[in-house]
Amino acid sequence: MALDQIVDGLSEVSCDVLVIGGGTAGPMAALKAKLKNPKANVVLLEKANVKRSGAISMGMDGLNNAVIPGYATPEQYTKEITIANDGIVDQKAVYKYAQNCFEIIEELDSFGIRFLKNENGDYAVKKVHHIGTYVLPMPNGETVKKALYRQLRRARILISNRYMATRLLKSSNGRIAGAISVNTRTAEILVIKAKAVILCMGAAGRLGLPTSGYMFGTYENAANSGDGYAMAYHAGAALANLECYQINPLIKDYNGPACAYVAGPFGAFTANNEGSRFIECDYWSGQMMLEFYNELLSGKGPVFLQLKHLHPDTISEIESTLHKVERPTRGLFQQGRGVDYRNDSIEMHISEIGFCSGHSASGVFVDDNARTTVPGLYAAGDMASVPHNYMLGAFTNGSVAGIDAMEFADNHDFAEFDAADVAMERDRVMAPTKREDGIPPNQVEYKTRRLVNDYLQPPKVTRKYQLGMRRLAEAREDMQERMIARNAHELLRALEVQSIMDCADMAVHASLYREESRWGLYHWRTDFPEKDNENWFCHTLLSKQNGRMTSEKRAVEPYVVPIADDEKDLYDKQRIRATA
Ligand SMILES: Cc1cc2nc3c(=O)[nH]c(=O)nc-3n(C[C@H](O)[C@H](O)[C@H](O)COP(=O)(O)OP(=O)(O)OC[C@H]3O[C@@H](n4cnc5c(N)ncnc54)[C@H](O)[C@@H]3O)c2cc1C
Repeated sequence: MALDQIVDGLSEVSCDVLVIGGGTAGPMAALKAKLKNPKANVVLLEKANVKRSGAISMGMDGLNNAVIPGYATPEQYTKEITIANDGIVDQKAVYKYAQNCFEIIEELDSFGIRFLKNENGDYAVKKVHHIGTYVLPMPNGETVKKALYRQLRRARILISNRYMATRLLKSSNGRIAGAISVNTRTAEILVIKAKAVILCMGAAGRLGLPTSGYMFGTYENAANSGDGYAMAYHAGAALANLECYQINPLIKDYNGPACAYVAGPFGAFTANNEGSRFIECDYWSGQMMLEFYNELLSGKGPVFLQLKHLHPDTISEIESTLHKVERPTRGLFQQGRGVDYRNDSIEMHISEIGFCSGHSASGVFVDDNARTTVPGLYAAGDMASVPHNYMLGAFTNGSVAGIDAMEFADNHDFAEFDAADVAMERDRVMAPTKREDGIPPNQVEYKTRRLVNDYLQPPKVTRKYQLGMRRLAEAREDMQERMIARNAHELLRALEVQSIMDCADMAVHASLYREESRWGLYHWRTDFPEKDNENWFCHTLLSKQNGRMTSEKRAVEPYVVPIADDEKDLYDKQRIRATA
């Protein structure tokens, strides 16, 4: 059989809990669900291969948000994230994360993932955030995936690699009933009936086009094409604060961070072309990104990570982490550019836009039990709405989701779905394979993402957004009428571009709805340049109602940890001011 040849087939399986996405949150959710009820069937479905998939495919340099007794308290952390996220936070979920994450660190430690410790054997946490101390380096962070995978095998989780989920199934009374997926090598359809489903499909990272010009050179794992956001939307779940984009500072032309989080605690800093610091703190927030963006455009750009002033031994130590743990390609990239950290600063730039709660706050709306607004449907990690939750948040909230979802499955039978929904989805999925001639998915994707960059990249201008909406609608028509897939691999790409298009539409809708500016660069609307707490101190929830995209306001839940008036704008004061 020719490689990736399309096979006509449909089969059906069932399980108690279905976890979709085997990156970071997914494996932990599956593991905890199975440990909660070892007799139950837990399936972990992954588009790629769980062994090396997701944002931590290789490993990670450290935990960005570890709340470790002796260094920080859950109250301090909750306060910091509330302020960093301009106050639009349901604190209960953040507080619960902060209370539970230390236990998860100890569990990860017991899996063999080591964290930096001092001579007394205590965790050696570093300060990067504006107020508290939460960054815990991982000197052998490249082993994360392997260690996780061992646990999945040990617990006998059923892993289905190379299956891309495309749509969720629901019963007539709105409960989750399972999901539909496609084999990425054969295009055969697999329907999975499940009592509860957990979405862990990561950020929507292929929304904007990177300035490097490489379609897959995104900051996020490029397999994260926003399928989770699109599936949740089509299932009628609410999505929160999608206008709060993710935009990150990166190494210029390289799809990874310069990593002030690793280098900062050793004395490195973000500087302009005069070698001067211009921001108080390297922790990523919308306001920090706005200052970064302003500096780039001010004539004082480019912006650099500066470390050549450090002792050569310190530089070697930083280098060994940055070039070994998270992204070994980084060393090769710098070598190719002739950049030696001892003599040269590292040129930085800003990333393409995306949705992500890991670094920002845009995600499928969840409560503190990781429940979405659809009964039996859960979400965790970068695609769920708990803000700034990073890798440890994916693990911790994945654990919360796994336990609660198994409880739900233990108390419910399978919900019935309509076979016509499967038939309809099969037609949608296979449509590009039925055409004789047309536009290949990579061209539709390039066009869509170029439109995203041209019209949606902040600063957000209403007129540009209105034009963008029209251009995207035209591109959608081409996609629906003329896109072709000549083999199973192209079919995967064709399905991904449909998720990307849905995300682009949601980005427009959510951005036009919030008529103020908030979160620094993430939602900077030139026509509404001020923060408007009177009218917009609220979440926005976007959902599909009667087939139409709608947005509504949702009040911020009363704070668990109060924020004093003089603390509220601490993250707004990012720019270093000259003092006499
Ligand atoms: C470059 C980079 C550096 C980072 N550095 C740090 C750091 O140093 N410290 C830190 O704490 N955090 C860091 N983070 C953040 C952290 O890695 C993420 O927050 C976390 O890994 C997200 O986990 P997740 O499970 O939500 O998503 P992922 O781990 O990305 O997993 C999503 C999974 O879903 C799969 N998937 C997607 N669509 C489908 C589909 N349709 N069907 C089936 N499967 C699908 C994907 O293949 C993937 O395996 C970094 C992130 C990036 C991108």
